[in-house]
Amino acid sequence: MDKKVVLAIDLGTTGNRVMAFARDGSIVARSYYEFPQIFPQPGWVEHDPGQILSTTLKALQEVCTKVGAENIDSIGITNQRETTILWDKNTGQPVYNAIVWQDRRTENTCLELAARRDLLKQKTGLFLDPYFSATKVKWIIDQVAGVKGRIAKGDILFGTPDTWVLWNLTARRAHLTEPSNASRTMLFNISLLNFDQELLQIFGVPENILPGIMPSDSLFGYLKKEICGREIPIHGVLGDQQASLFAQCAGQAGAVKATYGTGIFVMTNTGKQLRISETLINTVSWQIKKEVNYALEGSIFMGGAAIQWLRDNLKIIEKAADSEAIATALTDNEGVYFVPALQGLGAPYWEAQARGAITGLTRKSNRANIIRAALEAMAYQVCDVLNEMKKTSLEPLCQLRVDGGAAVNNFLMQFQADIARVPVERATITETTALGAAGVAAIATGFWDEQGFAGTIKRDRVFKPLLDEQKAQASYQGWQTAVNRCRQR
Ligand code: ADP
Repeated sequence: MDKKVVLAIDLGTTGNRVMAFARDGSIVARSYYEFPQIFPQPGWVEHDPGQILSTTLKALQEVCTKVGAENIDSIGITNQRETTILWDKNTGQPVYNAIVWQDRRTENTCLELAARRDLLKQKTGLFLDPYFSATKVKWIIDQVAGVKGRIAKGDILFGTPDTWVLWNLTARRAHLTEPSNASRTMLFNISLLNFDQELLQIFGVPENILPGIMPSDSLFGYLKKEICGREIPIHGVLGDQQASLFAQCAGQAGAVKATYGTGIFVMTNTGKQLRISETLINTVSWQIKKEVNYALEGSIFMGGAAIQWLRDNLKIIEKAADSEAIATALTDNEGVYFVPALQGLGAPYWEAQARGAITGLTRKSNRANIIRAALEAMAYQVCDVLNEMKKTSLEPLCQLRVDGGAAVNNFLMQFQADIARVPVERATITETTALGAAGVAAIATGFWDEQGFAGTIKRDRVFKPLLDEQKAQASYQGWQTAVNRCRQR
């Protein structure tokens, strides 16, 4: 039967979204529900797994009603990565809230394990940090009363949000994940592509709670009939950044994607070969058609968040969008740099202790200089990551493909092209994550072929480098000097 749409379930950090894509890539239906963020203590961030599920079901049912369940080819799932849920497989009840990727409660555990840092980087591709799942799983096992005994009885399951939602959507049949998500747990050996006994031992995680690992484009199971009135195949799962990489760059050697949101996630697919980087995360892009691809990833903590900080803390802009005209009105940065190390520095520095600074101020300086410097800082930070990618990746970087809320800023995009010296291509669709998840499923079922899928993403605008190269270099050197002033090491 000729199905009309493919669905993506996008399990985000602030809310869950379901989208239906037609064969030409157009969005036929969509639904989105936010869920509450829970902050029990400073540095702790939790979600209620029940709310993750209920908002997903609501969005799913709305979209199914709009498009008609009989018209749906398949479903792809994409999700916030690293977020950790343990639940009882008999009752379906979580033993604790989901501990979110942003949660820093396990910093001390990481300090205690510092001697294992190199081994962990080598086996998992990750930096020892509370960001990843392993120390969060350990925290739940150690801190939540009774969990150890229930694990010993074989009653407890672990999963990231993809696994939790999949298990529930498939009537508890599928306790599964795939390599792009598994590679963010810090329990997964990215060379051997399995959960690693030595890692499990280091973090005290029992094997019997772990999900099975299938290729990213597998038939993971069927949506149970009660939800939309028909069993629908769930045929793809990918972590959120990998899904947007898939939509933006799959099959394009040398292409890099950057998502400018609260933070900035820069990623490039390096193909079949794993080449360990000392400054960037090595991670699995996907396992599709049985073939594993790897990626280099740089996570920048303060992207658009620096603009929020100008708005909410300094109160020098009313809304984020105002920054564009203010920055454009200056002809250059007038020597002012803003290093937004307000939560330490992420990639490629990884210095939790670094603190922010504004440098180069004079009597002439005013709020416009600071606003422009905050936007420029996003571009400089992306450049820092691109430079590290150039050292590790075999392919010369030839394009930067961008999306995310702050990518609408034309000043920022032009400046990014000027500083990085590559064309910056902006996608028309902001939900590249959902499109990527739909793509994985739909290519597996034959709804799209690879070319058809590549044609679904439209480019809104290409920004070419215009600034004189020497000027660009001098500006970037000024940035590096400013960053070095903020570093503790
Ligand atoms: P997330 O998915 O992380 O919630 P979004 O992709 O929705 O983030 O982007 C929101 C971020 O982008 C905010 O931090 C905001 O400050 C920033 N932002 C939004 N619009 C602009 C703009 N026009 N110029 C610069 N930054 C912007």
